[in-house]
Amino acid sequence: MDEHKENLHAKDVNVKKMSQTGEEEEEEKEKPCARICPVGESAPQVSSSQPSGDFSHPVYKEIALANGHINRMSKDELRIKLSELKLDTRGVKDVMKKRLKSHYKKQKLLQTAAEGGPTDTYYDHICVVDFEATCEEDNPSDFLHEIIEFPMVLINTHTLEIVDTFQEYVKPELNPQLSDFCVKLTGITQKMVDEADPFPEVLQRVVAWLQERELGTKYKYAILTDGAWDMSKFLNIQCRISRIRYPQFAKKWINIRKSYGNFYKVLPPASQLKSSFEFRVPRTQTKLSTMLEKLGLKYEGRPHSGLDDSRNIARIALRMLQDGCQLRVNERMHAGQLLSVPSSAPVEGAPAPHSPRSRD
Ligand code: AMP
Ligand code: MG
Repeated sequence: MDEHKENLHAKDVNVKKMSQTGEEEEEEKEKPCARICPVGESAPQVSSSQPSGDFSHPVYKEIALANGHINRMSKDELRIKLSELKLDTRGVKDVMKKRLKSHYKKQKLLQTAAEGGPTDTYYDHICVVDFEATCEEDNPSDFLHEIIEFPMVLINTHTLEIVDTFQEYVKPELNPQLSDFCVKLTGITQKMVDEADPFPEVLQRVVAWLQERELGTKYKYAILTDGAWDMSKFLNIQCRISRIRYPQFAKKWINIRKSYGNFYKVLPPASQLKSSFEFRVPRTQTKLSTMLEKLGLKYEGRPHSGLDDSRNIARIALRMLQDGCQLRVNERMHAGQLLSVPSSAPVEGAPAPHSPRSRD
């Protein structure tokens, strides 16, 4: 699974730069289908009182000093400090460092906000989606994947819990017969898809499910996926096959691989750095299994089951939120193209879901 998704990112190149708060940020270089946009994360619930990109407020100097101090701490010192603060002590050194930095940053920014700086409202819910699709062993480059499982796992960002799940199988139209490889990989049987409805009908129930939970109306929410493919490839192709327009509510999402790499600063060994300002983010470090492992978690369930994958992705998202990461929308589809969303963009929720119109 992960290797498969990895291929999409194989050509992605990232450039490291130092932020005003003494942290390294990654900036994506132009890819065939994405614009250059810095993607970073900050503490939850609070935004700078300064215009985006303006770090002149003295609080940023204080944060930079604290970050510098944390950068010099040993693993044992980090563990002791985290324990004193009653924070999670699990994970590798980079994860612990980031957790501590985020804690101080959050405290500082909360203090600043309480002293008069405005706050920004964060998403109330995050909806994790991980599609499973028809496939062949070596997926020919022109293979038209059709969605066969539509799972959703809903996270409440206030209680930091999984509060609901949705799962439906989908009957493929173009290739209704699943390959043996696909059945083995996903655990989805021929009977499951034969008994399922075609995509447009399942999508209608997805929309109704989201509407019943008042997402996009009463509650602010964002969609989250593991990589860019779920939306930019699987949903995009499926909508063309089903002759429906790409749904408006799925046009922007949080790609957790990007957020994870930026937040925990997944760095290759110094020897692999081409120069002090350029390096390749090792994409193997943002595989689902590796992300879980680095956070001290184990995969639960059956890999490549859409619902189990979604649950495990949700567990990573929860840990990142607990560690102080403000997961934000960082990718979008526009005119059939995958684009990046800059981290300076406001925390905008997805629109209320509606069933998309037919293309005809
Ligand atoms: P995942 O969410 O990683 O389980 O993958 C989503 C979909 O990508 C699967 O349902 C397959 O259609 C396809 N896929 C994943 N891994 C592979 C693989 N090793 N070979 C071919 N297709 C794959
Ligand atoms: Mg999956």
